[in-house]
Order: sequence, then C-alpha cells, then structure tokens
Amino acid sequence: MSIAQRIAPQPKAHIMCANCKCMLAFVAGHQLVKCSRCNTVNKVPPPTVDKKNCQNCRVLLQFPINSKKVKCGSCQFINQFAR
Ligand SMILES: [Zn+2]
Ligand SMILES: [Zn+2]
Repeated sequence: MSIAQRIAPQPKAHIMCANCKCMLAFVAGHQLVKCSRCNTVNKVPPPTVDKKNCQNCRVLLQFPINSKKVKCGSCQFINQFAR
C-alpha cells in the first residue's frame, strides 16, 4: 500500500542535463527537455509515479506506478485502482 501526498496541479520535474550536468526544471509530462545552457535535447525517463484523483475526496494523488491500493493522505480513504 502507498501513502499518497497532495501535489500541486502542475508539478515541476527536474532532470540533469546529460551534457553539461546542470539541473533542468520542466513541466512534468514533457518527454524532451532542451537545455537552456548547451542546447542539448535531453530525453526524460518514463515516469515512475502515477496520478489519479482520490475516489472519495477528489484530491489529486501521486503514487508509485502499478500501485493497486493507495491510501489518500488527505481523507485516509483507501483507493483501489484497477488497471
Ligand atoms: Zn546542458
Ligand atoms: Zn481522499
């Protein structure tokens, strides 16, 4: 079981540029991120977290991908997500 946390609607993700090693921030969901320093296009690794709304209180939950039971951190409801 996972304990989900509240997250902002537009989470920012970070990756390190493969070329110049600077930290790049981007809006989660993008697959390619261009480095503003050296212009290298970095491929974003596939997500390891999934996002769904709590079935009870509708808050957006973030949890490790393939979790079947996710406890809402807001209302403590245990969500069962079928795949
Ligand atoms: Zn770079
Ligand atoms: Zn909830």
